[in-house]
Amino acid sequence: MSLKVCSLFSGSSGNSTYLGTEKTHILVDAGLAGKYIIDGLKDVGIDGSDLNGILITHEHVDHIKGAGVLSRRFNIPIYANEKTWAAMESKIGRVSPSNIRIFDKDMDFYIQDINVQAYEIPHDAADPVGFSFYNNNKKISITTDLGYTNKKLIKTVMDSDMVILEANHDQDMLINGPYPAMLKRRILSRKGHLSNEDSGKALLELVKGRVTHVLLAHLSRENNHPQLALDTVTEILEDGGVKVGKDIFLDMTYRDRISNVYQFK
Ligand SMILES: [Zn+2]
Ligand SMILES: [Zn+2]
Repeated sequence: MSLKVCSLFSGSSGNSTYLGTEKTHILVDAGLAGKYIIDGLKDVGIDGSDLNGILITHEHVDHIKGAGVLSRRFNIPIYANEKTWAAMESKIGRVSPSNIRIFDKDMDFYIQDINVQAYEIPHDAADPVGFSFYNNNKKISITTDLGYTNKKLIKTVMDSDMVILEANHDQDMLINGPYPAMLKRRILSRKGHLSNEDSGKALLELVKGRVTHVLLAHLSRENNHPQLALDTVTEILEDGGVKVGKDIFLDMTYRDRISNVYQFK
């Protein structure tokens, strides 16, 4: 038994992550047109019809764009909490009642052999969540679209083997960049997005737990560069006495292609 994970694409332009075991195949978010998601899945050897569920973190378009289409085409259940369902229902088109699955974020649940636990994250959506997935004593967590990290969140995530963590922007690039002032304020707010620096600081805490593998995710196209995100996070970790490439392995997600595939046995 093993837990496999791969980011199909990630960034402010669209997000979707594949997570699976030998017999279960899940998508977390479906934030590009269905066609791109199907192509991304093919790269990991999965067909759209293999999917057992699509889990939605929150109703922003970069997380739901292809969800309705995939559900209708392959008869796939969509899982979201009640407020997220209410907020996204009109945006994803008609979904068969049998494919509307509502979870309570205080209760874990199973999709076949994968245990799923949702947890609250601070973001400007109806009821945004991150997810942890368990199988065979391995745990993978997805934590993107959050304004800041707090103790509760760190505690929830720190016993994961792998974390997909947001490194959205470089603060200086954002502040000096072309975005309108209102949007800059939104991104920088406590319900906005995690900067490279915030991400590095969060990892300094997470590495004290079980986390050994990290994928940096949800990078802004305008306000970040992959190399800058990687360098900033690495520097913060090394300054804190953590050896990158030994104590912790950092890797990237991409807006237009799949990441490396990780498998935890
Ligand atoms: Zn969002
Ligand atoms: Zn997003």
